[in-house]
Amino acid sequence: MVNFQEASEIVFAQARSWGTEEVLLDGAFGRVLAETVLADRDYPPFPRATMDGYALRYADLERGVRRFRVADIVFAGSRPAGQLSGGECYKIMTGAAVPGDADMVVRREDVGEGEAEIEVGGLLPDSWRPFLNIARQGEDLRAGDLVIDKPCRVSPAVMGLLATLGRSTVKVARAPRVGLVTTGNEVVEPGGVVSLVQIRNSNRWMLMAALREQRVEVSMSAHAVDDPEQLTRDLQRFLDMDILIITGGVSAGDADHVPAVLEQLGVRRLFHKIAMRPGKPTWCGVSPRGGMVFALPGNPFSCFVSFALLIAPFIHACWGLERTLPMALPLGAARPKRTPLDEFFPVRVEGSPAMLTQMPLNGSGDIRMGMQANALALHPATAGDLERGALVAVYSFV
Ligand code: AMP
Ligand code: MG
Repeated sequence: MVNFQEASEIVFAQARSWGTEEVLLDGAFGRVLAETVLADRDYPPFPRATMDGYALRYADLERGVRRFRVADIVFAGSRPAGQLSGGECYKIMTGAAVPGDADMVVRREDVGEGEAEIEVGGLLPDSWRPFLNIARQGEDLRAGDLVIDKPCRVSPAVMGLLATLGRSTVKVARAPRVGLVTTGNEVVEPGGVVSLVQIRNSNRWMLMAALREQRVEVSMSAHAVDDPEQLTRDLQRFLDMDILIITGGVSAGDADHVPAVLEQLGVRRLFHKIAMRPGKPTWCGVSPRGGMVFALPGNPFSCFVSFALLIAPFIHACWGLERTLPMALPLGAARPKRTPLDEFFPVRVEGSPAMLTQMPLNGSGDIRMGMQANALALHPATAGDLERGALVAVYSFV
């Protein structure tokens, strides 16, 4: 049996790219950018007025001019028709390009505004220097500068940046083709008739949602009964997927045929069982076509944890995203050690300074799955009972 750290390393070692595709900007949100991005021009592209006011020449102030005739009005996106003569200024709006014959912008509220002229006070503030209230051309970025140098998630900020750079299409990492197979004679779809001894299929819906959060759609799904021959036929159809996720049937029960069937189908086992709770029965292997196969225990919370701690990080690694390391945060309440395994438990990171509130969970079969949690915390195998305030590793959901 491997421990969680070893299981992670084994999974990460299998990470490889699924290629890239070009998508319209509109479809890029949430995907992972798979190209380096350069500034197409200087930013700001022109000296930009950062205030509404008057653009004038510092030299005029220096030689004592205090009244300026307003020669023209410069709006954002427009240019003046003529040039400034001595003692003249432009009225200018935020976002407008400051004409080349002016070198500072004085705020409206700092001058006396008259009919077609302005007046400034006798003693000038120290801050009144050339480039006052002007964002200089190229002060953020120069044309050709590297703006994004490695794969990154397209966040709202990245969307805005790509739009600024004029990108109507972008290259993103291709999503894996994912197959999802739930198993169990007792499992019925939500709309179906459920007898007293049956339960509804929650794993299918939870995993589809978890994948969707990663902008991955399930390509193919099925529900299989606990019969080795039928399971073999069902799973066979999924062997060319980039990722195959199976739930249930991986433990030690008489109906747990998944590991044997997978091995018989030529899926090479990487590990079976992780010394962690929940998720202990997790099985992982590589299909003959090179796809990853994850067989997760059927308990809803086990499934959830195995996805969050192994499958999502694997997908991120294949996309070239940097590994997110856990943070260390203090527990808000004591926690007794229950097993000699690494124990993952659902928490909410909250408060200031941040503490961990443990979410109610009655074992891995609890359908609430630590619903209000925004992270999983680790109670390490090597630790005894933890006291309030003890620092633990926290894996936030991303
Ligand atoms: P198994 O891993 O097949 O032994 O299942 C462990 C527990 O998870 C059992 O109580 C199952 O009834 C339950 N379970 C298995 N598959 C699902 C599923 N798709 N949705 C909800 N619960 C499930
Ligand atoms: Mg089962």
